[in-house]
Amino acid sequence: MQKTELIGLSKQELADEVAKIGEKPFRAKQLWQWIYFRGETDFEKMTNLSKDLRAKLAENFSITRPKIVTEQISKDKTHKWLLEFADGQRIETVYIPEEDRGAVCISTQVGCAVGCRFCHTGSQKITRNLSAGEIVAQFMVARDAYGEWPSPTNETRYLSNIVVMGMGEPLHNPDNVFKALKILSDGDGIAISKRKITLSTSGIAPKIGLVAKELGCKLAISLHAPNNEKRSQIMPINNRYPIEEVLKGCQEYQSQMSPGRYVTFEYLMLKDFNDSPEDAKELISLMKKYKLGAKFNLIPFNPWPGCDYQPSSNNKVRAFSEILEAAGYEAPVRVARGQDILAACGQLKSKKEVVLNKKEP
Ligand code: SAH
Ligand code: SF4
Repeated sequence: MQKTELIGLSKQELADEVAKIGEKPFRAKQLWQWIYFRGETDFEKMTNLSKDLRAKLAENFSITRPKIVTEQISKDKTHKWLLEFADGQRIETVYIPEEDRGAVCISTQVGCAVGCRFCHTGSQKITRNLSAGEIVAQFMVARDAYGEWPSPTNETRYLSNIVVMGMGEPLHNPDNVFKALKILSDGDGIAISKRKITLSTSGIAPKIGLVAKELGCKLAISLHAPNNEKRSQIMPINNRYPIEEVLKGCQEYQSQMSPGRYVTFEYLMLKDFNDSPEDAKELISLMKKYKLGAKFNLIPFNPWPGCDYQPSSNNKVRAFSEILEAAGYEAPVRVARGQDILAACGQLKSKKEVVLNKKEP
């Protein structure tokens, strides 16, 4: 008999599975605690359950982590895992440590259908969506590595934040993504607060409001250009959902969140493409027009083998940031992490390819 995998079931679904094998609802609560609060994967070690029950659970259910294919740690301690699921599909997950906290960057799809020109993941065609369980399990693998079980109750956690910024477009897989994030933020288990979760999207306009409605976590929009003409050149999705629609989606998000919840706009600094003072001014007009409470994250472009773009110079990035800040917008420059192991933003990819060196004849 095929065992039912428990990771990724909602609380209600877990209760239903427990009822199916004739056990009382409180057993589901105990299981939830073992799985998500203690990180236990072995039914035999669930010591507050009788021996018979442990055997029955093991007969019917499984609690599985994906296989770790490779694991790399960068000079700056950024940690990257290449993970493989039961069907052989692979994705990457990254942990980015700070001094007294850190973010786990999780993937939502194998590949990505959006195909942004500057993104390594986008050059890998979409294979499939990840299930809720596969999304949750990525965080659990990272926690296993740092031994952060049971879930710490104080605020000093190594793994304190989640950024949905790995491979894939989360709003192309919203059901599984929101289900997973609800599990990860549930207070009886892993308990990462919604304020410490950021979902980043390339701008699937009609779904942006869901980020507030379904979860209420932070929202980041990959904007990367101040007008449709430029944005469409680097992000084909802009032909489907132009900037106006994306910003209306942001207004919808903001209207449902408590005041002061700003949207973060990610802005990739590409040399001689979107990094001039005029671009910065156009960006400011755009924000004013839509009356958005916004902050910017200026991202240095992370090159990858075979890409067509180059990063802007430090001077240009600084000047760009100063224009936005003078207009009252926060605009820090993000520090690239884990570049030496291709773990930085936009560098993730789980399929090998032959990279042609364009300089060679
Ligand atoms: N698909 C979602 C989330 C994953 S991408 C999205 O696009 O928002 C996470 C972030 O990395 C996005 O802001 C994306 O635009 C950025 N990114 C992609 N390629 C990059 C690169 N080569 N260098 C730096 N950032 C990149
Ligand atoms: Fe997909 Fe995001 Fe990469 Fe664009 S930047 S191709 S949406 S993962």
